[in-house]
Amino acid sequence: MRAAAHTAISGASAFALISMLRRHHPTARLPDPVFAAVVAAIASGLPDLLEPASSPHHRKFCHSAAFAVIVTTGMRKLYDWMPATPGEAFMRDALLGIGFGYMTHLCADATTPLGLPLLGTIS
Ligand SMILES: [Zn+2]
Repeated sequence: MRAAAHTAISGASAFALISMLRRHHPTARLPDPVFAAVVAAIASGLPDLLEPASSPHHRKFCHSAAFAVIVTTGMRKLYDWMPATPGEAFMRDALLGIGFGYMTHLCADATTPLGLPLLGTIS
C-alpha cells in the first residue's frame, strides 16, 4: 500500500473515530480530533520506516499482529495516564495520535492479500 494511501486512511480514521468516541463518551479523555488526525497522518509512515516496503514480503515483526497488541497496550497505558502538566498532556495526546497512525497503517495493511504476519521476524 502506498504512503499517500496510509496518510489519508490514518488521518481520516483518527478524525472519524475520535470524533465518534468523544460524541458518545463526552467524559473520555481523548485528543482533539483534528490534532490527532494530523499526528496520525504524519505517523502513518512509521511502520514502513521501521521495515521499508522494498519487497512485497517486507512485513516482519513491526508489521505483525503481535506488535499491534504491544502498540494497543501502550495506547491503553497512555490513555490511563493522568498528566500533571500541560506539556505532559500534549505529549500524551501526541503519542496517542502516533498510536492511531501506527494502528491504522497495520489495519490497512491487514486488508491486503498478504495481510499481516502473526509474529513476523526481526531482521
Ligand atoms: Zn506497511
